[in-house]
Amino acid sequence: MLNALARAARPCIATTAAALTISAHGDSNADNAKQPYRVLVVGAGLGGCLCAKELRRRFGDAAELHVWERATYNAGRFGGVAVAGELRVDLGAQVLSVVDPEDPRALPGHGIALDALKGAWSEVQALEARGLVEPVADNQLAATEERLLWPELWRQYVSVGSFSDVCAALLTDARPDAVYFGRRVDSLKRDAGRAFVVTAAQRDGDGARSISATFDAVVLAVPAPDALAVDGVADALPPELADLVGRTRYDARTATAVFFCDDDGEASRILDRVFKSRLERDGSGGLELAHRRSSTGPVVAVVAHSSATTSIAPPLTADDVLNAIAGADAAALRPLVVSSKSVRWDCAQMVTPLEALMPQNPVEKEPCVCDDMATLVLAGDYCTQSSFLGAYASSRAAAQAVHRGYRLRCG
Ligand SMILES: Cc1cc2nc3c(=O)[nH]c(=O)nc-3n(C[C@H](O)[C@H](O)[C@H](O)COP(=O)(O)OP(=O)(O)OC[C@H]3O[C@@H](n4cnc5c(N)ncnc54)[C@H](O)[C@@H]3O)c2cc1C
Repeated sequence: MLNALARAARPCIATTAAALTISAHGDSNADNAKQPYRVLVVGAGLGGCLCAKELRRRFGDAAELHVWERATYNAGRFGGVAVAGELRVDLGAQVLSVVDPEDPRALPGHGIALDALKGAWSEVQALEARGLVEPVADNQLAATEERLLWPELWRQYVSVGSFSDVCAALLTDARPDAVYFGRRVDSLKRDAGRAFVVTAAQRDGDGARSISATFDAVVLAVPAPDALAVDGVADALPPELADLVGRTRYDARTATAVFFCDDDGEASRILDRVFKSRLERDGSGGLELAHRRSSTGPVVAVVAHSSATTSIAPPLTADDVLNAIAGADAAALRPLVVSSKSVRWDCAQMVTPLEALMPQNPVEKEPCVCDDMATLVLAGDYCTQSSFLGAYASSRAAAQAVHRGYRLRCG
């Protein structure tokens, strides 16, 4: 606490020597006293994009907001896509799941407060109004535990384009001062002024160059193993929290998109029969199948996921997917295959999130993990659950914590 108060005596001027600054809001303040609070969000998945938006909402122009993403595109489990012709399909999440806060069964808990339930719902209504997602009824989808236990409490939405469009829109809303793709954060270390010196590898042609910059606060919106792989993170957290993060567990899934030529509508006719006009069905061999079509293009697709209970090593081929469809329909589809793409998600969905781990579970207070000064904050579905709601609740808590740290340091 003493350190925090000492820091508050010279507010936010210690980080002027950033190695790298690109600013859309203007970064060359003559008046150091008004220098923005420099915040880095690591990861441009759903959580990172939501967190950046929430940070901008809370800080306005008082924060200089940077986003660094390891992949060369807007990625994450809400962003992996496969493309054929004009059809883009998601390889990660297939439906966005959120709870209607007006439903009497919608109660806060598991680290998710009522205002997070409401905020996530409003965010999704806004995405629908922008034409980025549309609702889909439970009876169109494969049965999951939530859908069986609480019919229609969870509301499901599919992407109109792809979920990476949703992430891109959220990131645009955040008005970040700088976004870098192909930049992997490798280490962070506190400097004498208690800011973080962050080091990353920036992809550059066939190689990579090292980048270093200083930030007042860092949010790691990455899966738990990726957060702990960043050198210095575990040491910067209270040991019991670092230990809890290390004990969270995900399942692993393999996903494959198979595209079919639909010039004469034959593939669509077969797939309508296979799916009985639903969007999802169970396939044989532990695969879950989703039907994706384009309003314009001559291509349709089936996306296959290994289920939560079946771990399938890659590659999951087009033949495997056809075998899961089986019978005469699979034989008729075989010559229509155009291409396929397979992805292995080592961290797919939560099996053991923080909220299920005791003791010293922090998430009943707020579903994120932070150091004593709220300057290093970890957020993600591993704090609560793998859903849009879980990512929203954790990102919002992370932004709130960063803002608390800012008030502590900057008055
Ligand atoms: C196969 C599958 C099916 C799913 N189905 C559903 C579903 O139907 N409904 C639903 O709501 N949810 C579903 N989910 C879960 C949902 O996708 C996740 O809960 C959510 O996307 C998590 O978002 P995140 O931002 O926390 O993490 P991520 O999406 O993992 O994003 C983390 C980002 O950080 C980047 N990164 C990691 N390390 C570094 C580093 N050192 N430096 C820089 N960048 C880094 C990664 O490249 C990535 O882009 C599914 C997930 C999978 C994999």
